[in-house]
Amino acid sequence: MPKCWVCGSRAVARIPYLGLHLCETHFSEYFERRFLETIERMSMVRRGERVAVAVSGGKDSLTLLYLFSKYRRKLGVEVIGIAVDEGIKWYRELKLEALEGYAKSWEVELRIESFKARFGFTLDEAVKALMEVGLVLKPCSICGVLRRYLLNETALKVGADKLATAHNMDDEVQVFLMNLIRANLGSLGREGATTRVVHKALVPRVKPFYFTREKEVAAYALLQGIKSPIVECPYVVYSARHVIRRWLNVVEMEDEHAKYRILALKELLSSTSSRVWEGLTTCQVCGMPSSQSICRACLLSSYVRSILGQRHNSF
Ligand code: SF4
Repeated sequence: MPKCWVCGSRAVARIPYLGLHLCETHFSEYFERRFLETIERMSMVRRGERVAVAVSGGKDSLTLLYLFSKYRRKLGVEVIGIAVDEGIKWYRELKLEALEGYAKSWEVELRIESFKARFGFTLDEAVKALMEVGLVLKPCSICGVLRRYLLNETALKVGADKLATAHNMDDEVQVFLMNLIRANLGSLGREGATTRVVHKALVPRVKPFYFTREKEVAAYALLQGIKSPIVECPYVVYSARHVIRRWLNVVEMEDEHAKYRILALKELLSSTSSRVWEGLTTCQVCGMPSSQSICRACLLSSYVRSILGQRHNSF
């Protein structure tokens, strides 16, 4: 049985890049120190700032909200949780229910916005309508664009200086590989642990788990008793990222340093490119940041509404 490198008691986690095992107490200490050091080293937040934590109700984002609430005084920040209800039956409502309970017990203000209220349809309604015309758009493509839009819009509304997301090393490596497969060179190294922005309506994003493996976040959440309902989004089967995620986990079983190396490559590439979101303009429809004259959220939502309108008129 592996022993803790610090105290010799029973180990609960192994940190591959350190080659060490740690017990429950020392792993939790290590994890929290890493969270605080990442924030400090990358200048993610400043004293007096208002930090909006994007929370989905999954274990990663619950853990991020927990840590920000635990260390808000030490960091000198005000914390607010913001969540998006996409309208995915038997999935999101269960996650949000758990989130509301945790936010209350951690005494964090929570703001939940929905696709239905903002765009006029739930994701379920959009997918059903799109299925009837041959699923020209994948559920995750609509979901991702509209959720990012709504998170930024909500962060702006609540006066947040930063938008913190729970993206971890695994997420970053998956997105990097997807961009590589799609030869999307412009995006390869663009988003890092912090995002400097050039548009007044885009809240700067920070990712305190950027250098932390998903397994470590899961282990920490488990040790703190943070539980998320075990339900999976029904649309995950349409997600290309899901395939990459499984493949990467298989690779990691053979080579525990693989994800670190890919992330290091991403960092190296980004050092030769700009992490500023260049070429951002303002959407002529909604006034939010966009790389085109009309932003993707406006284009997508009006397309879905037009299909839903056609269905409605044909009844
Ligand atoms: Fe949205 Fe896709 Fe994630 Fe489901 S799997 S919540 S559709 S991004």
